[in-house]
Amino acid sequence: MQSQLLTVEEALEQILSHASPLSTETVALEEANGRVLREAARSRVDLPPFASSAMDGFAVRAADTPGELPVAFRVAAGSPPPSPLPPGAAAGIATGGTVPDGADAVVPIELVEDRQESVSVASAVAPGQHVRPRGGDVSAGDVVVDVGTRLAAQHIGALAAAGVSELLCSVRPRVAVLATGTELRPPGAQLEAGQIYESNRAMIAAGLASTGAIVELLPVVEDDADAHREALERGLEADVLVTSGGVSMGPHDLVRRVAADLGVRELFWGVAVKPGKPLAFGVRGETLVFGLPGNPVSSLVGAVVFVRPALLARQGVRAPIADYLPGRLAGELRRNPQRDQFVRARRVATADGELLDAIGGQESHMIVRAAAADALVLVPRGTGELPAGSRVRFIPLA
Ligand code: AMP
Ligand code: MG
Repeated sequence: MQSQLLTVEEALEQILSHASPLSTETVALEEANGRVLREAARSRVDLPPFASSAMDGFAVRAADTPGELPVAFRVAAGSPPPSPLPPGAAAGIATGGTVPDGADAVVPIELVEDRQESVSVASAVAPGQHVRPRGGDVSAGDVVVDVGTRLAAQHIGALAAAGVSELLCSVRPRVAVLATGTELRPPGAQLEAGQIYESNRAMIAAGLASTGAIVELLPVVEDDADAHREALERGLEADVLVTSGGVSMGPHDLVRRVAADLGVRELFWGVAVKPGKPLAFGVRGETLVFGLPGNPVSSLVGAVVFVRPALLARQGVRAPIADYLPGRLAGELRRNPQRDQFVRARRVATADGELLDAIGGQESHMIVRAAAADALVLVPRGTGELPAGSRVRFIPLA
């Protein structure tokens, strides 16, 4: 049985191979933060569009310095110079002002004596000094942001500067999240004997929201086949359906069976990972269906490690798998012979990199203990201990 479990890599490979790209739509730049580009965005202009001054000062011919130069005219940002710079003269210029034809350098105002009619430049300046050449940042028609990029502040700024006002982006994926379990009550309600608070839907939604997905929380479903059918049917209208609980071997674990009845083709059940082993994954049409185990930490790990990449892939992100960061273990950790582990840990910044300090309480129901962690440390399967100081990789928990 154990040997039939997929590895984390194999499971991700299967998931991504079924994560077909969603359709596209045109998005206004101001609305595009967090969206994924589906077509490279190109500059409409050379940037800067003209040779411009990097300083407040005087535009000159470098060869005319040092010397006392008559001031031919003064250039403000936003209005072009009235004429080329006459030989042997200087032009007052503001930061961002157009360097007049003929000038090849700007002397900063701090380095001159401004006598209004003339300016005295004490030392020689080099050609090109404090001049931002036309097209120095990008040329018209060049790619500003490439296809498959998730747009963040730096991209938005670049696109605006390059004159791009509309972008072809992926539509946002619609994700439905439902939880199963007759024992579950909403936080805030009065608990009766045998009941616990339902924690997974809001947590999964929070873990997926940063992908740009539109998350819909479906009601909590009792461990009853009809209730499952109704909820799953609704969830299958989404681009991605995530369920929590009910995917283990018990008599009340109904998700896989009912999903199969509804036409979900299961592609795997079981990943060699701890926590989260009984993860189920299937498809119906283009809809991806993730059955996460109900223990809250298993659901958290499943959402971060497996569902997030799927949501990014469906939007066309180039590298959808989580970026692991490097670190070292603060203390030794026991490896699991069969399963890769995602150990909850605290990050501690040190002069030579990050130390990862595993929190106490690593069992999969201990979600409150997990709240002290800001990293999921990957401890690869194997025998014996990983000693303190071992190099590991981790996924940050934002
Ligand atoms: P299951 O995967 O349905 O067998 O559930 C495993 C464990 O996780 C059980 O102790 C459940 O009570 C608990 N559990 C399942 N779903 C949730 C949930 N949405 N919130 C909190 N605990 C849950
Ligand atoms: Mg259950």
